[in-house]
Amino acid sequence: MPELAEVEFFCKQWDLGLGGEIGEVLTHPAARIYRDIPAAAVERGLTGRTLVGSETHGKQMLFEFSGGAWMGLHLGMTGRLYVAALDHEEEKRDHLILVQRERKLIFSDYRMFGKLTLDITDDGERPGWWQALPPRTTESGFTKSHHRTFVKRFPKTPLKTLLLDQRCYPGIGNWMADEICWQLRLPPQTRSGELSDEEIDAVWKVTRKVSRDAVRVIRPDWGRLPDSWLMNHRWKDGGVCPRKECRTDLVRADLRGRTTCWCPVCQK
Ligand SMILES: [Zn+2]
Repeated sequence: MPELAEVEFFCKQWDLGLGGEIGEVLTHPAARIYRDIPAAAVERGLTGRTLVGSETHGKQMLFEFSGGAWMGLHLGMTGRLYVAALDHEEEKRDHLILVQRERKLIFSDYRMFGKLTLDITDDGERPGWWQALPPRTTESGFTKSHHRTFVKRFPKTPLKTLLLDQRCYPGIGNWMADEICWQLRLPPQTRSGELSDEEIDAVWKVTRKVSRDAVRVIRPDWGRLPDSWLMNHRWKDGGVCPRKECRTDLVRADLRGRTTCWCPVCQK
């Protein structure tokens, strides 16, 4: 599932279409992404408008169109955005195509867990649901005290599970949560209530660092994260801890329904 850095990468793909008018909107009305808003309403709502901006928030994207139209998009498990030439032949999984004069902006979703919303606001303000999202882990509003307060609400929750909570860690998913625990040298099973204030602050610090580094590497061209991170080793059978002094076999196991990977030596 795309996490915050991958979502930024996909969002950026449509930048080519900024400033371009949407001449036609092509949809698959039966696709699940239209469960909250009918495809016909999206076609009516966007045709003739110009794409003027885009931004991401965790796993969500918001596209602004002229005249106060805002399209929210969540990629779900397998959604992706890409741009194609006008003669591009539509594929079965291309559930939304915004046709501009020189290109097609395409939302493709193989497993159809993505989600789409459309709001038309009179005042030009972002929709209320967007404004109500918690601070991004990459921005200054994600403060130490905001973070501490949240963590203390869930003393029984394992650290890994807590890091997946989108109310405090928007855009953090499975690989980033494992990465953060590994960089902290804390077992993913550690109950939040067992963390000292210093450790909670360390979680905050590493969350910010992993978020920013991931965006810096992945956003421009889906670059490869450093081999000194857990990420490049966690799925490999026979994967070992990348710390030079360690090289212990990594462990993979289920933790509250999510496959979790850790180093049994560094994260004791
Ligand atoms: Zn290790």
